[in-house]
Amino acid sequence: MYNPKSMEAEEFISHEEILDTLDYAEKNKHNRELIDSILEKARLKNGLTHREASVLLACDLEDKNQEIYKLAEQIKKDFYGNRIVLFAPLYLSNYCVNGCVYCPYHFKNKHIPRKKLTQEEIRNEVIALQDMGHKRIAIETGEDPVNNPIEYVLESIKTIYSVKHKNGSIRRVNVNIAATTVENYKKLHDIGIGTYILFQETYNKESYETLHPTGPKHNYKWHTEAMDRAMAGGIDDVSLGVLFGLESYRYEFAGLLMHAEHLEAVHGVGPHAISVPRIKKADDINPEDFDNGIDDDIFAKIVACIRIAVPYTGMIISTRETEECRKRLLHLGVSQISGGSKTSVGGYFNPMPEDENSAQFDVSDRRPLDDVIKWLMQMGYIPSFCTACYRSGRTGDRFMEICKQQQIHNFCQPNAILTLKEYLEDYASPETKEIGYKLIDKELQSLVDGKVKTTVEEDLVKIETGTRDLRF
Ligand code: SAM
Repeated sequence: MYNPKSMEAEEFISHEEILDTLDYAEKNKHNRELIDSILEKARLKNGLTHREASVLLACDLEDKNQEIYKLAEQIKKDFYGNRIVLFAPLYLSNYCVNGCVYCPYHFKNKHIPRKKLTQEEIRNEVIALQDMGHKRIAIETGEDPVNNPIEYVLESIKTIYSVKHKNGSIRRVNVNIAATTVENYKKLHDIGIGTYILFQETYNKESYETLHPTGPKHNYKWHTEAMDRAMAGGIDDVSLGVLFGLESYRYEFAGLLMHAEHLEAVHGVGPHAISVPRIKKADDINPEDFDNGIDDDIFAKIVACIRIAVPYTGMIISTRETEECRKRLLHLGVSQISGGSKTSVGGYFNPMPEDENSAQFDVSDRRPLDDVIKWLMQMGYIPSFCTACYRSGRTGDRFMEICKQQQIHNFCQPNAILTLKEYLEDYASPETKEIGYKLIDKELQSLVDGKVKTTVEEDLVKIETGTRDLRF
Protein backbone atom coordinates (compact mmCIF):
# COMPACT_ATOMS: atom_id res chain seq x y z
CA MET A 1 0.00 0.00 0.00
CA TYR A 2 1.43 3.36 -1.07
CA ASN A 3 2.03 5.71 1.82
CA PRO A 4 4.59 8.54 1.51
CA LYS A 5 4.59 8.98 5.29
CA SER A 6 5.40 5.36 6.01
CA MET A 7 8.92 4.51 7.21
CA GLU A 8 8.79 1.20 5.26
CA ALA A 9 10.69 1.32 1.97
CA GLU A 10 8.13 -0.77 0.14
CA GLU A 11 5.34 1.57 1.20
CA PHE A 12 6.90 4.94 0.38
CA ILE A 13 8.41 3.51 -2.83
CA SER A 14 5.39 1.39 -3.71
CA HIS A 15 5.94 -0.79 -6.78
CA GLU A 16 2.19 -0.76 -7.53
CA GLU A 17 2.02 3.02 -7.30
CA ILE A 18 4.94 3.32 -9.74
CA LEU A 19 3.28 0.90 -12.19
CA ASP A 20 -0.02 2.80 -11.92
CA THR A 21 1.85 6.07 -12.45
CA LEU A 22 3.59 4.77 -15.57
CA ASP A 23 0.29 3.48 -16.92
CA TYR A 24 -1.41 6.84 -16.22
CA ALA A 25 1.49 8.71 -17.87
CA GLU A 26 1.41 6.48 -20.94
CA LYS A 27 -2.36 6.86 -21.34
CA ASN A 28 -2.14 10.65 -21.00
CA LYS A 29 1.00 11.37 -22.97
CA HIS A 30 -1.09 13.00 -25.73
CA ASN A 31 -3.73 14.51 -23.45
CA ARG A 32 -3.25 18.21 -24.25
CA GLU A 33 -5.78 19.40 -21.71
CA LEU A 34 -4.11 17.53 -18.87
CA ILE A 35 -0.60 18.47 -20.00
CA ASP A 36 -1.60 22.13 -20.17
CA SER A 37 -3.05 22.02 -16.67
CA ILE A 38 0.13 20.37 -15.35
CA LEU A 39 2.27 23.02 -17.05
CA GLU A 40 0.07 25.72 -15.59
CA LYS A 41 0.63 24.32 -12.11
CA ALA A 42 4.36 23.97 -12.82
CA ARG A 43 4.58 27.66 -13.75
CA LEU A 44 3.72 28.48 -10.12
CA LYS A 45 7.17 27.01 -9.39
CA ASN A 46 6.05 25.03 -6.36
CA GLY A 47 6.84 21.69 -7.96
CA LEU A 48 4.77 18.74 -9.17
CA THR A 49 3.78 15.33 -7.87
CA HIS A 50 5.48 12.21 -9.24
CA ARG A 51 2.33 11.48 -11.28
CA GLU A 52 2.13 14.91 -12.87
CA ALA A 53 5.85 14.99 -13.62
CA SER A 54 5.65 11.47 -15.09
CA VAL A 55 3.03 12.67 -17.59
CA LEU A 56 5.40 15.44 -18.70
CA LEU A 57 8.24 12.95 -19.02
CA ALA A 58 6.09 10.62 -21.16
CA CYS A 59 4.67 13.46 -23.30
CA ASP A 60 5.87 13.26 -26.91
CA LEU A 61 4.01 16.23 -28.36
CA GLU A 62 6.74 18.37 -29.89
CA ASP A 63 5.22 21.77 -29.04
CA LYS A 64 4.53 20.72 -25.43
CA ASN A 65 8.06 19.38 -25.07
CA GLN A 66 9.41 22.74 -26.18
CA GLU A 67 7.26 24.35 -23.46
CA ILE A 68 8.69 21.90 -20.93
CA TYR A 69 12.28 22.81 -21.87
CA LYS A 70 11.51 26.52 -21.81
CA LEU A 71 9.91 26.27 -18.39
CA ALA A 72 12.84 24.24 -17.02
CA GLU A 73 15.25 26.94 -18.22
CA GLN A 74 13.11 29.64 -16.62
CA ILE A 75 12.90 27.82 -13.28
CA LYS A 76 16.65 27.25 -13.39
CA LYS A 77 17.21 31.00 -13.85
CA ASP A 78 14.69 32.00 -11.18
CA PHE A 79 16.08 29.71 -8.49
CA TYR A 80 19.78 29.50 -9.33
CA GLY A 81 20.51 32.56 -11.48
CA ASN A 82 23.68 32.04 -13.50
CA ARG A 83 25.68 30.39 -10.74
CA ILE A 84 27.20 26.93 -11.04
CA VAL A 85 28.73 25.35 -7.95
CA LEU A 86 31.97 23.39 -8.42
CA PHE A 87 33.18 20.30 -6.59
CA ALA A 88 35.51 17.32 -7.01
CA PRO A 89 35.23 13.70 -5.87
CA LEU A 90 38.00 12.28 -3.68
CA TYR A 91 38.28 8.48 -3.73
CA LEU A 92 39.68 7.25 -0.43
CA SER A 93 39.48 3.48 -0.89
CA ASN A 94 38.22 1.03 -3.49
CA TYR A 95 38.12 -1.99 -1.18
CA CYS A 96 34.59 -3.35 -1.38
CA VAL A 97 32.76 -6.45 -0.20
CA ASN A 98 29.68 -5.97 -2.40
CA GLY A 99 28.91 -7.67 -5.67
CA CYS A 100 27.27 -4.79 -7.61
CA VAL A 101 27.26 -5.97 -11.23
CA TYR A 102 27.72 -2.48 -12.76
CA CYS A 103 30.64 -1.37 -10.58
CA PRO A 104 34.27 -2.43 -11.08
CA TYR A 105 34.84 -2.29 -7.29
CA HIS A 106 32.80 -5.53 -6.92
CA PHE A 107 34.72 -7.94 -4.73
CA LYS A 108 35.15 -10.62 -7.42
CA ASN A 109 37.19 -8.23 -9.55
CA LYS A 110 40.75 -9.43 -8.97
CA HIS A 111 42.07 -7.35 -11.85
CA ILE A 112 41.61 -3.87 -10.45
CA PRO A 113 44.41 -2.72 -8.10
CA ARG A 114 42.98 -2.27 -4.57
CA LYS A 115 44.06 0.84 -2.73
CA LYS A 116 43.29 2.64 0.46
CA LEU A 117 44.86 6.02 1.11
CA THR A 118 46.88 6.61 4.28
CA GLN A 119 46.34 9.92 6.10
CA GLU A 120 49.61 11.16 4.57
CA GLU A 121 48.36 10.26 1.09
CA ILE A 122 45.04 11.99 1.82
CA ARG A 123 47.00 15.12 2.73
CA ASN A 124 48.77 14.95 -0.64
CA GLU A 125 45.46 14.53 -2.48
CA VAL A 126 43.96 17.48 -0.63
CA ILE A 127 46.95 19.70 -1.41
CA ALA A 128 46.64 18.75 -5.09
CA LEU A 129 42.89 19.59 -4.98
CA GLN A 130 43.53 22.87 -3.18
CA ASP A 131 46.19 23.79 -5.73
CA MET A 132 43.57 23.38 -8.44
CA GLY A 133 41.30 25.77 -6.51
CA HIS A 134 38.73 23.35 -5.10
CA LYS A 135 36.93 24.18 -1.84
CA ARG A 136 34.22 21.50 -1.84
CA ILE A 137 34.78 17.78 -2.23
CA ALA A 138 32.77 14.57 -2.08
CA ILE A 139 34.58 11.64 -0.50
CA GLU A 140 33.90 8.18 -1.92
CA THR A 141 34.68 4.71 -0.63
CA GLY A 142 33.66 1.17 -1.42
CA GLU A 143 31.82 -0.70 1.36
CA ASP A 144 34.21 -2.72 3.49
CA PRO A 145 33.74 -2.78 7.26
CA VAL A 146 37.29 -4.08 7.80
CA ASN A 147 39.24 -1.83 5.41
CA ASN A 148 36.98 1.23 5.42
CA PRO A 149 35.33 1.32 8.87
CA ILE A 150 33.57 4.51 10.00
CA GLU A 151 36.63 5.40 12.13
CA TYR A 152 38.74 5.54 8.95
CA VAL A 153 36.19 7.78 7.25
CA LEU A 154 36.01 10.09 10.29
CA GLU A 155 39.78 10.31 10.63
CA SER A 156 40.05 11.09 6.91
CA ILE A 157 37.48 13.89 7.16
CA LYS A 158 39.45 15.42 10.05
CA THR A 159 42.62 15.23 7.98
CA ILE A 160 40.92 16.85 4.98
CA TYR A 161 39.62 19.79 7.02
CA SER A 162 42.99 20.23 8.72
CA VAL A 163 45.03 20.81 5.54
CA LYS A 164 45.64 24.52 4.88
CA HIS A 165 48.04 24.83 1.96
CA LYS A 166 48.91 28.37 0.78
CA ASN A 167 45.51 30.14 0.68
CA GLY A 168 43.69 26.85 0.18
CA SER A 169 41.22 24.98 2.35
CA ILE A 170 38.48 22.43 1.88
CA ARG A 171 35.45 24.02 3.47
CA ARG A 172 32.83 21.43 2.77
CA VAL A 173 33.27 17.65 2.75
CA ASN A 174 30.27 15.80 1.34
CA VAL A 175 30.20 12.08 1.96
CA ASN A 176 29.23 9.26 -0.39
CA ILE A 177 29.61 6.05 1.59
CA ALA A 178 27.41 2.98 1.86
CA ALA A 179 24.20 2.96 3.88
CA THR A 180 25.00 2.79 7.59
CA THR A 181 23.51 3.05 11.09
CA VAL A 182 21.94 6.07 12.82
CA GLU A 183 24.86 5.98 15.24
CA ASN A 184 27.37 6.29 12.39
CA TYR A 185 25.35 9.02 10.69
CA LYS A 186 25.41 10.90 13.98
CA LYS A 187 29.22 10.61 14.04
CA LEU A 188 29.37 12.00 10.49
CA HIS A 189 27.07 14.83 11.48
CA ASP A 190 29.09 15.65 14.59
CA ILE A 191 32.35 15.85 12.66
CA GLY A 192 30.80 18.46 10.35
CA ILE A 193 30.07 16.90 7.00
CA GLY A 194 28.14 18.77 4.34
CA THR A 195 25.71 16.60 2.42
CA TYR A 196 25.29 12.85 2.77
CA ILE A 197 25.05 11.34 -0.70
CA LEU A 198 23.70 7.89 -1.47
CA PHE A 199 22.52 6.76 -4.87
CA GLN A 200 19.60 4.39 -4.84
CA GLU A 201 20.99 2.88 -8.09
CA THR A 202 17.50 1.52 -8.88
CA TYR A 203 14.17 1.86 -7.11
CA ASN A 204 12.88 -1.41 -8.57
CA LYS A 205 13.27 -3.90 -5.73
CA GLU A 206 13.48 -6.98 -7.91
CA SER A 207 16.09 -5.45 -10.22
CA TYR A 208 17.91 -4.03 -7.22
CA GLU A 209 18.32 -7.48 -5.70
CA THR A 210 19.55 -8.95 -8.99
CA LEU A 211 22.00 -6.09 -9.58
CA HIS A 212 23.34 -6.39 -6.02
CA PRO A 213 23.51 -10.18 -5.69
CA THR A 214 25.86 -10.32 -2.69
CA GLY A 215 27.12 -8.24 0.22
CA PRO A 216 25.37 -5.84 2.61
CA LYS A 217 24.17 -3.68 -0.28
CA HIS A 218 21.89 -6.54 -1.38
CA ASN A 219 19.43 -5.45 1.32
CA TYR A 220 16.95 -3.15 -0.50
CA LYS A 221 15.18 -2.09 2.67
CA TRP A 222 18.42 -1.12 4.47
CA HIS A 223 19.61 0.85 1.46
CA THR A 224 16.30 2.59 0.66
CA GLU A 225 15.65 3.67 4.24
CA ALA A 226 19.21 5.03 4.67
CA MET A 227 18.22 8.68 4.21
CA ASP A 228 15.70 8.41 7.04
CA ARG A 229 18.44 7.06 9.30
CA ALA A 230 20.80 9.83 8.14
CA MET A 231 18.16 12.40 9.09
CA ALA A 232 17.55 10.66 12.41
CA GLY A 233 21.31 11.02 12.98
CA GLY A 234 21.04 14.78 12.49
CA ILE A 235 22.16 15.10 8.86
CA ASP A 236 19.61 17.39 7.26
CA ASP A 237 21.18 17.74 3.80
CA VAL A 238 20.88 14.51 1.84
CA SER A 239 21.43 13.91 -1.83
CA LEU A 240 19.56 11.32 -3.91
CA GLY A 241 20.38 9.74 -7.25
CA VAL A 242 19.78 6.75 -9.49
CA LEU A 243 22.21 5.15 -11.88
CA PHE A 244 20.44 5.58 -15.21
CA GLY A 245 20.78 2.56 -17.47
CA LEU A 246 20.02 -0.12 -14.88
CA GLU A 247 16.22 -0.01 -15.11
CA SER A 248 13.53 1.69 -17.16
CA TYR A 249 14.16 5.43 -16.83
CA ARG A 250 10.48 6.20 -16.30
CA TYR A 251 10.36 3.81 -13.36
CA GLU A 252 13.45 5.45 -11.82
CA PHE A 253 12.10 8.94 -12.39
CA ALA A 254 8.85 8.18 -10.55
CA GLY A 255 10.76 6.41 -7.74
CA LEU A 256 13.16 9.31 -7.33
CA LEU A 257 10.33 11.83 -6.98
CA MET A 258 8.44 9.54 -4.60
CA HIS A 259 11.56 9.37 -2.45
CA ALA A 260 11.75 13.19 -2.44
CA GLU A 261 8.05 13.37 -1.50
CA HIS A 262 8.64 10.89 1.32
CA LEU A 263 11.51 12.95 2.80
CA GLU A 264 9.40 16.08 2.60
CA ALA A 265 6.36 14.36 4.15
CA VAL A 266 8.27 12.80 7.03
CA HIS A 267 11.11 15.22 7.76
CA GLY A 268 9.66 18.44 6.36
CA VAL A 269 12.63 18.82 4.02
CA GLY A 270 13.23 17.28 0.62
CA PRO A 271 16.60 16.27 -0.83
CA HIS A 272 19.24 18.98 -0.97
CA ALA A 273 20.33 17.69 -4.36
CA ILE A 274 19.68 15.00 -6.94
CA SER A 275 22.45 13.39 -9.00
CA VAL A 276 21.82 11.97 -12.44
CA PRO A 277 24.67 9.58 -13.26
CA ARG A 278 24.58 7.22 -16.27
CA ILE A 279 26.48 3.92 -16.38
CA LYS A 280 29.92 4.27 -17.91
CA LYS A 281 32.56 1.92 -19.14
CA ALA A 282 34.94 0.86 -16.38
CA ASP A 283 37.56 -1.83 -15.79
CA ASP A 284 35.47 -5.00 -16.29
CA ILE A 285 32.15 -3.21 -16.88
CA ASN A 286 30.63 -2.68 -20.32
CA PRO A 287 27.59 -0.36 -20.39
CA GLU A 288 26.35 -2.26 -23.48
CA ASP A 289 25.60 -5.22 -21.20
CA PHE A 290 22.76 -3.22 -19.67
CA ASP A 291 19.49 -2.98 -21.60
CA ASN A 292 18.15 0.29 -20.28
CA GLY A 293 20.71 2.79 -21.53
CA ILE A 294 19.29 6.22 -22.34
CA ASP A 295 20.38 8.56 -25.12
CA ASP A 296 21.24 12.25 -24.71
CA ASP A 297 17.76 13.45 -25.70
CA ILE A 298 15.95 11.36 -23.11
CA PHE A 299 18.60 12.35 -20.58
CA ALA A 300 17.92 16.04 -21.29
CA LYS A 301 14.18 15.46 -20.90
CA ILE A 302 14.72 13.76 -17.53
CA VAL A 303 16.83 16.69 -16.29
CA ALA A 304 14.23 19.23 -17.47
CA CYS A 305 11.39 17.31 -15.79
CA ILE A 306 13.30 16.97 -12.50
CA ARG A 307 14.00 20.72 -12.61
CA ILE A 308 10.28 21.43 -12.97
CA ALA A 309 9.14 18.83 -10.42
CA VAL A 310 11.50 19.91 -7.60
CA PRO A 311 12.57 23.50 -8.35
CA TYR A 312 14.33 24.00 -4.99
CA THR A 313 16.50 20.87 -5.24
CA GLY A 314 20.02 21.24 -6.63
CA MET A 315 20.97 18.99 -9.52
CA ILE A 316 24.41 17.50 -9.99
CA ILE A 317 26.18 16.24 -13.09
CA SER A 318 29.63 14.70 -12.98
CA THR A 319 32.51 14.30 -15.42
CA ARG A 320 30.93 10.99 -16.47
CA GLU A 321 29.34 13.18 -19.14
CA THR A 322 30.98 14.96 -22.07
CA GLU A 323 31.50 18.71 -22.34
CA GLU A 324 28.75 18.94 -24.96
CA CYS A 325 26.23 17.00 -22.87
CA ARG A 326 27.06 19.00 -19.75
CA LYS A 327 26.53 22.25 -21.63
CA ARG A 328 23.01 21.22 -22.63
CA LEU A 329 22.10 20.06 -19.14
CA LEU A 330 23.40 23.22 -17.48
CA HIS A 331 20.78 25.22 -19.38
CA LEU A 332 18.01 22.83 -18.41
CA GLY A 333 18.53 22.67 -14.69
CA VAL A 334 21.88 21.40 -13.45
CA SER A 335 23.25 23.63 -10.68
CA GLN A 336 26.39 21.81 -9.61
CA ILE A 337 29.18 20.10 -11.58
CA SER A 338 32.48 18.43 -10.86
CA GLY A 339 35.62 19.59 -12.62
CA GLY A 340 39.15 18.27 -13.07
CA SER A 341 37.99 15.00 -11.48
CA LYS A 342 39.95 11.80 -10.97
CA THR A 343 37.97 8.71 -10.11
CA SER A 344 40.98 6.61 -9.10
CA VAL A 345 42.28 6.25 -5.57
CA GLY A 346 45.22 8.66 -5.20
CA GLY A 347 44.76 10.02 -8.74
CA TYR A 348 45.19 13.73 -8.00
CA PHE A 349 48.67 13.54 -6.49
CA ASN A 350 49.82 10.66 -8.63
CA PRO A 351 47.96 10.27 -11.95
CA MET A 352 48.11 6.61 -13.06
CA PRO A 353 48.78 5.09 -16.44
CA GLU A 354 45.59 3.45 -17.81
CA ASP A 355 46.57 -0.18 -17.04
CA GLU A 356 47.35 0.51 -13.39
CA ASN A 357 44.21 2.48 -13.01
CA SER A 358 41.99 1.94 -9.99
CA ALA A 359 39.30 4.24 -11.42
CA GLN A 360 35.65 3.61 -10.69
CA PHE A 361 34.53 4.66 -14.15
CA ASP A 362 35.93 6.39 -17.22
CA VAL A 363 35.73 10.15 -17.11
CA SER A 364 34.39 11.78 -20.31
CA ASP A 365 35.14 15.40 -19.47
CA ARG A 366 38.88 15.37 -18.80
CA ARG A 367 39.53 19.09 -18.92
CA PRO A 368 41.52 20.69 -16.09
CA LEU A 369 39.47 22.75 -13.62
CA ASP A 370 40.79 26.04 -15.04
CA ASP A 371 39.44 25.13 -18.49
CA VAL A 372 36.05 24.25 -17.00
CA ILE A 373 35.94 27.59 -15.15
CA LYS A 374 36.86 29.49 -18.30
CA TRP A 375 34.27 27.56 -20.33
CA LEU A 376 31.53 28.29 -17.77
CA MET A 377 32.33 32.00 -17.75
CA GLN A 378 32.42 32.16 -21.55
CA MET A 379 28.84 30.89 -21.46
CA GLY A 380 27.91 33.60 -18.94
CA TYR A 381 27.83 31.40 -15.83
CA ILE A 382 29.44 32.39 -12.55
CA PRO A 383 31.47 29.46 -11.23
CA SER A 384 30.92 29.40 -7.48
CA PHE A 385 33.17 27.89 -4.81
CA CYS A 386 30.90 29.10 -2.06
CA THR A 387 30.28 26.96 1.01
CA ALA A 388 28.77 29.67 3.20
CA CYS A 389 25.28 28.16 3.66
CA TYR A 390 26.67 25.15 5.37
CA ARG A 391 29.00 27.15 7.58
CA SER A 392 26.30 29.69 8.45
CA GLY A 393 23.84 26.99 9.48
CA ARG A 394 21.63 27.41 6.43
CA THR A 395 21.02 23.70 5.93
CA GLY A 396 17.98 21.43 5.83
CA ASP A 397 14.65 23.18 6.31
CA ARG A 398 16.30 26.58 6.95
CA PHE A 399 17.90 26.42 3.50
CA MET A 400 14.73 25.09 1.85
CA GLU A 401 12.58 27.82 3.32
CA ILE A 402 14.77 30.54 1.81
CA CYS A 403 15.11 28.61 -1.43
CA LYS A 404 11.38 28.02 -1.86
CA GLN A 405 10.79 31.76 -1.51
CA GLN A 406 13.30 32.23 -4.33
CA GLN A 407 15.45 34.29 -1.98
CA ILE A 408 18.53 32.09 -1.91
CA HIS A 409 20.26 34.05 -4.68
CA ASN A 410 20.33 37.08 -2.38
CA PHE A 411 22.93 35.17 -0.42
CA CYS A 412 24.43 33.13 -3.23
CA GLN A 413 25.08 35.83 -5.78
CA PRO A 414 27.51 37.95 -3.72
CA ASN A 415 29.13 34.86 -2.24
CA ALA A 416 29.59 33.29 -5.66
CA ILE A 417 31.24 36.46 -6.95
CA LEU A 418 33.50 36.66 -3.92
CA THR A 419 34.65 33.05 -4.12
CA LEU A 420 35.19 33.39 -7.87
CA LYS A 421 37.40 36.39 -7.16
CA GLU A 422 39.30 34.30 -4.65
CA TYR A 423 39.78 31.59 -7.29
CA LEU A 424 40.94 34.09 -9.90
CA GLU A 425 43.51 35.64 -7.58
CA ASP A 426 44.92 32.37 -6.32
CA TYR A 427 44.68 29.79 -9.09
CA ALA A 428 43.48 31.07 -12.46
CA SER A 429 45.54 31.20 -15.66
CA PRO A 430 46.03 34.72 -17.12
CA GLU A 431 43.36 34.14 -19.77
CA THR A 432 40.81 32.86 -17.25
CA LYS A 433 41.62 35.81 -14.99
CA GLU A 434 40.93 38.30 -17.72
CA ILE A 435 37.58 36.75 -18.62
CA GLY A 436 36.73 36.39 -14.94
CA TYR A 437 37.36 39.98 -13.92
CA LYS A 438 35.26 41.25 -16.82
CA LEU A 439 32.43 38.97 -15.77
CA ILE A 440 32.71 40.05 -12.15
CA ASP A 441 32.55 43.74 -13.18
CA LYS A 442 29.37 43.02 -15.10
CA GLU A 443 27.83 41.08 -12.21
CA LEU A 444 28.73 43.74 -9.66
CA GLN A 445 27.11 46.32 -11.87
CA SER A 446 23.87 44.36 -11.89
CA LEU A 447 24.04 44.05 -8.10
CA VAL A 448 24.52 47.82 -7.86
CA ASP A 449 21.67 48.38 -10.32
CA GLY A 450 19.51 46.55 -7.84
CA LYS A 451 18.66 43.72 -10.16
CA VAL A 452 19.58 41.39 -7.33
CA LYS A 453 18.73 42.44 -3.81
CA THR A 454 21.57 41.20 -1.67
CA THR A 455 22.42 40.67 1.93
CA VAL A 456 26.05 41.36 1.19
CA GLU A 457 27.06 42.73 4.55
CA GLU A 458 25.68 39.85 6.54
CA ASP A 459 27.11 37.25 4.27
CA LEU A 460 30.46 38.49 3.19
CA VAL A 461 31.76 38.53 6.72
CA LYS A 462 30.85 34.89 7.03
CA ILE A 463 33.01 33.86 4.14
CA GLU A 464 36.31 32.45 5.24
CA THR A 465 38.90 33.72 2.87
CA GLY A 466 41.99 33.09 4.90
CA THR A 467 43.45 36.19 6.43
CA ARG A 468 42.59 38.28 3.39
CA ASP A 469 39.71 40.61 2.95
CA LEU A 470 38.35 40.05 -0.53
CA ARG A 471 35.50 42.49 -0.24
CA PHE A 472 35.03 44.78 -3.19
N1 SAM B 1 30.02 2.51 -2.07
C1 SAM B 1 29.03 3.50 -1.89
C2 SAM B 1 27.65 2.89 -2.00
O1 SAM B 1 27.54 1.71 -1.90
O2 SAM B 1 26.71 3.62 -2.17
C3 SAM B 1 29.08 4.67 -2.82
C4 SAM B 1 30.32 5.04 -3.48
S1 SAM B 1 30.36 4.62 -5.17
C5 SAM B 1 32.05 4.92 -5.11
C6 SAM B 1 29.56 5.95 -6.00
C7 SAM B 1 28.57 5.66 -7.10
O3 SAM B 1 29.21 5.39 -8.33
C8 SAM B 1 27.66 4.48 -6.93
O4 SAM B 1 26.61 4.77 -6.08
C9 SAM B 1 27.21 4.17 -8.36
O5 SAM B 1 25.95 4.74 -8.66
C10 SAM B 1 28.26 4.85 -9.22
N2 SAM B 1 28.87 3.88 -10.15
C11 SAM B 1 29.28 2.63 -9.89
N3 SAM B 1 29.70 2.04 -11.03
C12 SAM B 1 29.54 2.91 -12.03
C13 SAM B 1 29.79 2.88 -13.45
N4 SAM B 1 30.25 1.79 -14.06
N5 SAM B 1 29.48 3.98 -14.17
C14 SAM B 1 28.99 5.08 -13.59
N6 SAM B 1 28.75 5.17 -12.27
C15 SAM B 1 29.02 4.11 -11.48
